[in-house]
Amino acid sequence: MTVTTLTTLEKAATVEFRGVRREFGPTVALDGLDLNVRPGELLALLGPSGCGKTTALRMLAGFEHPDSGEVLVDGEDVTRVPAHRRDAGMVFQSYSLFPHLSAVDNVAFGLRMRKVRTAERRSRAVELLDLVGLGDKGERFPHQLSGGQQQRVALARALALRPRVLLLDEPLSALDAKVRLTLREEIRRLQQELGITTLFVTHDQEEALSMADRVAVLRAGRLEQCAAPAELYGRPATAFVAEFVGTMSRIPGRLTKDVVEVLGQRLPVDGEAPSGASAASGTEVDVLVRPEAVRVRADGGGSARVVATAFLGAVTRVTVRLADATEVKADLPTHEAAALSAGAAVTVTLPERPVLVAERTN
Ligand code: ATP
Repeated sequence: MTVTTLTTLEKAATVEFRGVRREFGPTVALDGLDLNVRPGELLALLGPSGCGKTTALRMLAGFEHPDSGEVLVDGEDVTRVPAHRRDAGMVFQSYSLFPHLSAVDNVAFGLRMRKVRTAERRSRAVELLDLVGLGDKGERFPHQLSGGQQQRVALARALALRPRVLLLDEPLSALDAKVRLTLREEIRRLQQELGITTLFVTHDQEEALSMADRVAVLRAGRLEQCAAPAELYGRPATAFVAEFVGTMSRIPGRLTKDVVEVLGQRLPVDGEAPSGASAASGTEVDVLVRPEAVRVRADGGGSARVVATAFLGAVTRVTVRLADATEVKADLPTHEAAALSAGAAVTVTLPERPVLVAERTN
């Protein structure tokens, strides 16, 4: 794929949501969303179903309007600007191409609406199709293209009007796993080459972490944390983020001031301890641990038991049940895990590092 002056932007846009609220009857879809998108970045909106991701995206596109709050593009308040004057290119989950138009005509459609001359709109459409790797398929109709190819046409169409922002609403979720992976990389490469500010809605955390410059985790219409993937994974701001992003196990512990007693070890607490955890006698808490931080070794006298192992390639995920029935997941190098079959007696420990703690859930 090559990028030419027809599609590159002079200057990438910023986007800002300021206290955006939107209710649908009794449902609060957005509950005072504050979010900044930096020029040229790909920001993924991630969160459980119903947390307001699509509503936020549609608000930026101009398909939804806030009850209160503002949406700004490049510092300009666009809250009341209608969708067709927003300068946003959008790609939906369902490719939503015009079935009776060829790929070229689909891409050129918006240009026709803008009264761009026939020759120019055709050459621009052909160039965009080239950009998404479909230079030789311009005359095909949507039903003659695979799902992945249709989505590339939709992407080319969204870029045709040189939008200031690109909005992608679960663009890969209708595709099969392999195509999804390829298109993930291609969208990211294209987005970086074009330098276009992009909002990407997904509920797939792996997709968000692998593609985005930053990931905004939403919960019940509010921003829980917005950070680069490594920070979100390594230093989650809340227990919700910790458990939503990546795999986490909860192990019961007892917290006194800023030290937690867990698995017979005494470990310092990472970040803020939950409120009310200062009692001298200690507070019941859960310690949150990633599978790669859990150590498991075969120990005939150990009180924990392996309940399952799952081969994942270089690592094997071992599920262990502690004496109190808590289940903990550990990722071990596959050669180490070979000795740990279901039923094996083991001992579980954590590295001597600060740990995240959360209020006990049960
Ligand atoms: P999903 O991952 O399931 O697509 P989402 O995070 O994108 O979810 P939204 O589609 O933004 O969530 O919806 C947020 C909440 O607002 C949901 O409870 C949804 O049912 C509700 N909602 C969204 N649009 C409307 C609407 N037009 N009318 C009524 N309720 C709506």
